[in-house]
Amino acid sequence: VNFKLLGTAAGGGFPQWNCACSLCDLSRKLPELVRPRLQQQALFSSAAAGLFLINASPDIRFQIEANPELHPRSHQGKRNTPIQGIILTSADLDQVLGLLLLREFQPLTVYATNLVRQTLEANTFLRMLERVPNQLSWVEIHPGKPFALAGNITCTPIPLPGSLPYYAGVRGASDQASLGVLLEADGVRLAYTPAVPEVSPALRSIYDSCDAIMVDGTFWSDTELNRTDPATPLARSIGHVPMSGEDGTIALLANVGARQKIFIHINNTNPVLDPRSDEYKFVIDAGWRIGQDGWQLN
Ligand SMILES: [Zn+2]
Repeated sequence: VNFKLLGTAAGGGFPQWNCACSLCDLSRKLPELVRPRLQQQALFSSAAAGLFLINASPDIRFQIEANPELHPRSHQGKRNTPIQGIILTSADLDQVLGLLLLREFQPLTVYATNLVRQTLEANTFLRMLERVPNQLSWVEIHPGKPFALAGNITCTPIPLPGSLPYYAGVRGASDQASLGVLLEADGVRLAYTPAVPEVSPALRSIYDSCDAIMVDGTFWSDTELNRTDPATPLARSIGHVPMSGEDGTIALLANVGARQKIFIHINNTNPVLDPRSDEYKFVIDAGWRIGQDGWQLN
């Protein structure tokens, strides 16, 4: 299986449109040093199965144009796409807004839990994807239950504790609200988890079984947002284990079995975005890498 990161920033992207913090400022002034990033997005493909997206970011149009494998094929008629399906890990706007940009009457297949589907269908905007019969096809997926994609790829939704986004207007946790993705093909296993609310024993053992893991790198510390603005929440309270500290992902996953450990979904406040920072060096010394837009894993 071929896996590619098309965006590696948390929601809002990097730089964030209304942010004048030193990191966003650096990414505007010295983009070669502190690289701008599109919002989190990934694709995977195999010759037999075709190409699948994991989520649909608000930057999807730029991500499609920047990656030729996502372009329509001129020999296949005037309107087409190589995208065989889109797997949704949650109903968060950062993960689904791109669906609305993929309308133009293009048939789409979306893999989602029943709860995520219902949450999206409750929004009238989504009707733009349901204007003609067979425009939007849903495939229901279940936390912890593997399903096969054409060819030899097996995909297992990893259950993670979480709740629906604010716009849904419902509180309370559900095992259907937030997922990771475990991909398996030709004996290679890869975990994709852009939002990690806790490193449970079950998640740890999935990571241990993998060749490569892509892990929530939203925040360096629990108080990162809170330090600049006391009104903002702690990282853990909004569902992200930070990288640093005794109970951060770097410490908790220090001896994990996976050969490749990559942080993704980096927030614009995270000091690791500057490769000159002590935090960046710490991450690299600990055997991790900071994912970059355009990175490919085979
Ligand atoms: Zn910023």
